[in-house]
Amino acid sequence: MSLTESVVSAVSEKLPGAKIVRIRLEIGRLAGVVPDSVRFCFEIVAAGTELEGAELEILEPPGVAHCRQCGVMVELADSVLLCTCGSANLEVLSGTEMLIKEVEVA
Ligand SMILES: [Zn+2]
Repeated sequence: MSLTESVVSAVSEKLPGAKIVRIRLEIGRLAGVVPDSVRFCFEIVAAGTELEGAELEILEPPGVAHCRQCGVMVELADSVLLCTCGSANLEVLSGTEMLIKEVEVA
């Protein structure tokens, strides 16, 4: 809930009085954020703000990590940090980000 609130208030502050029709967020698979809960909260939080009625789009890029054991790059679909070689000694390179990618104003 608080994450959704901070996104909504950040956008409202940047674009006061704007009529926002669409917002696109990027939430990496390793961000520890459940996109469904963001979707669920969004309508409630957005009510009465510049984002009321806006369409929420969430991109969920997989995480990418480098295995210190075997040296390969591994794609991670969830927060289980395991290489195909069985090692958990991974250096996470991406997938933990949570960004506002685009805001479409009417
Ligand atoms: Zn490995």
